[in-house]
Amino acid sequence: MKRLSDIGTIKEILSKHGFTFSKALGQNFLINPSVCPRMAELSGAAQGVGVIEVGPGIGVLTNELCRLADKVVAIELDKRLLPVLDETLAEYDNVKIVNADVLELDLRKLIEEEFQGIEVVVCANLPYYITSPVIMKLLEDRLPISAVTVMVQKEAAQRICAKVGSRESGAVTVSVNYYAEPELLFNVSAGSFMPAPKVDSAVLRLNIRKEPPVKTDEAAFFRVIKAAFSQRRKVISNSLSAGLGLDKQTVSLMLNNAGVAANARAEQLSLEDFAAIANQLNGGESE
Ligand code: SAM
Repeated sequence: MKRLSDIGTIKEILSKHGFTFSKALGQNFLINPSVCPRMAELSGAAQGVGVIEVGPGIGVLTNELCRLADKVVAIELDKRLLPVLDETLAEYDNVKIVNADVLELDLRKLIEEEFQGIEVVVCANLPYYITSPVIMKLLEDRLPISAVTVMVQKEAAQRICAKVGSRESGAVTVSVNYYAEPELLFNVSAGSFMPAPKVDSAVLRLNIRKEPPVKTDEAAFFRVIKAAFSQRRKVISNSLSAGLGLDKQTVSLMLNNAGVAANARAEQLSLEDFAAIANQLNGGESE
């Protein structure tokens, strides 16, 4: 078979199947031949490892994953791509396509049924309209996976991989860091896709933590993060008071007990600070 990453081959396949891109489904397909092998390699796909891919498109990355891993399960929402994938993945017997919305799917059940007894990683060029929901679903569901390697918009990647406590950090930085250690791997230019999006992309890997880095009540912890960053320019006492619906005096006392300065900003706080505030909110002891 001809190389799938070759733009001529891709155009030929798409035109043969009468395929037209759906903007609503975030369909920007990779046409840069060097990206998929690199991404697949860095995802941890290997003998003895199973891979879940989200949104295989016409199967460019899927091909590379099938070459390296024991088994690949690729979840694709667009029915029109199923006959295309049948053709482009015909040479592999270690791949299964699931026609579903990744956000609706019971991934725990899928892992139990498809990957018994082997390590599982996720590798995907994510549709940008659902980047955060997909990442948070993979993390919050506490799935038995060891790493998530995804291509996202460059700005989103920089935000997720920012250092907690730095100016570039946001609610997503702190939330993701609770579950995983993020690592920015490499940038991918907009010209590497067809059609070319307006912005550049980047590949990042989330190395899933075995244990959370701080002890906290999770519901309270995530409520505090949401409230703190909902008005990120304000000092923490004001944003928490507004976001949690608490009077200023109560918030001052909580911050004092948690050892956090009332005039700090959300972006300056550490995971330990957020956990200490959450423990106060919960009426518990600060760590
Ligand atoms: N992996 C291919 C590549 O790199 O060329 C395609 C990536 S494209 C950015 C995103 C893919 O996700 C598309 O194939 C799109 O149809 C699919 N998709 C969009 N929304 C989805 C959803 N909710 N669940 C599963 N797949 C989805």
